[in-house]
Amino acid sequence: MPDWAEQACGVYTRRYAELDLTVGLVVGSQRCLIVDTRGSRGQGEELAAAVREVTSAPPEIVLTHAHFDHAFGAAALSAAFGDRPIWAHTGCRRALTNHGEHDRREWMERYRACGEHALVDDLSATPIAAPTHTFERSARVDLGDRTVELVHPGPGHTDHDVIAVAGDVLFAGDLVEHVPGGSFTEESFGPDAHLDAWPTALDHVLTHRPRVVLPGHGDPVDAPFVTRARDDLRTLADLRTAVRAGTLTPAGALEAAPLPPEVSRAALT
Ligand SMILES: [Zn+2]
Repeated sequence: MPDWAEQACGVYTRRYAELDLTVGLVVGSQRCLIVDTRGSRGQGEELAAAVREVTSAPPEIVLTHAHFDHAFGAAALSAAFGDRPIWAHTGCRRALTNHGEHDRREWMERYRACGEHALVDDLSATPIAAPTHTFERSARVDLGDRTVELVHPGPGHTDHDVIAVAGDVLFAGDLVEHVPGGSFTEESFGPDAHLDAWPTALDHVLTHRPRVVLPGHGDPVDAPFVTRARDDLRTLADLRTAVRAGTLTPAGALEAAPLPPEVSRAALT
């Protein structure tokens, strides 16, 4: 199992081999805040034990978005501490309620197909928790001697992404990803993504002037990395607009796209 890495005083990350997911922990004098929950009951229980190694402060939980790898550990995590508040955008609650079961079945199929039977069993036994504390634009979580600001910067990776700002450390969820060869994967541009609005969401991220940005997957990054990701997304959005207007062929758009071909194809279609 991985170790916690301290990104700033009392601000930790824990990065897992499974999907290269990163979760966060912000420790205050009265409470702590866990950012994202991993993807199953077993994984949520592991994370609860790991949090206890760092602090005995009772946790609050925030979901950056409803995708299973970030949200499905929430029920086990909350229960491990006696039913704790789960913060999220209202759209996250809606997505988990309307699509959680479908997503669970889809990922069970994917894991079954690659022989990951322990994960299939774990997912099948995973209750999906609905967030208890929801908001539209922003919220502040009081941890005692510090607060963490939760902000919805507009649609991007989903229609309900939330960033968590702890001083100069910013948890970005999948609004920012860092993978070999670039800033996004094909999964970044799933059916929930809003390519046209995404650059504006990253503009909002940059207004917080973060020193460290923690992507949902991959290495920590900085503001210049986020600026480049924003520019790449803007280029992709412009190329897609040109294809739809008939002034550029799909092949021409792929050629001009700034990301690896398979990632660009997912973004453009
Ligand atoms: Zn996601």
